[in-house]
Amino acid sequence: MSHELDDLYQQLILEHSRRPMGKGELDAPEGSITASHHEYNPSCGDELTLSIAANPETGELTDLKWEGQGCSISMASASILSQLFKEEGGFTLEEAETRIAAFREMIQSRGTIEPDEDLLGDAVALRGVSQFVMRVKCAMLGWVALEADLRHVRAALVRE
Ligand code: ZN
Repeated sequence: MSHELDDLYQQLILEHSRRPMGKGELDAPEGSITASHHEYNPSCGDELTLSIAANPETGELTDLKWEGQGCSISMASASILSQLFKEEGGFTLEEAETRIAAFREMIQSRGTIEPDEDLLGDAVALRGVSQFVMRVKCAMLGWVALEADLRHVRAALVRE
């Protein structure tokens, strides 16, 4: 990776950790399926709770919010996930799952794969994290919480 790009990515991560997006109260219209999941990363001390609201008919995610404290990587990653959600105007369950899988693949690749920017947006800025095994959990925290929320939504849909 070029140094310029590296610097740009660093800056983006810093920006997101300083002014995180997607915090606040969950907007869940009556009848929505809601799910909330808390994740803790003991190796770094990061913790966050990520909540979603979903359409009870389709499972489509209509809102995503989070709260948490931790290192700049964990906070920036959750913020970027929120930004991606907002830019796309929400996710279907499949879209959310595809993005989580792509992010996990990138972050566990040790820099060996070229991430899909169409899928991951600014989250590609976190690609450098894959070189640092200890930080992988930091970067994954918000995404793992979302994954747990999605399982809840899928289960709720089946029960309908
Ligand atoms: Zn961390």
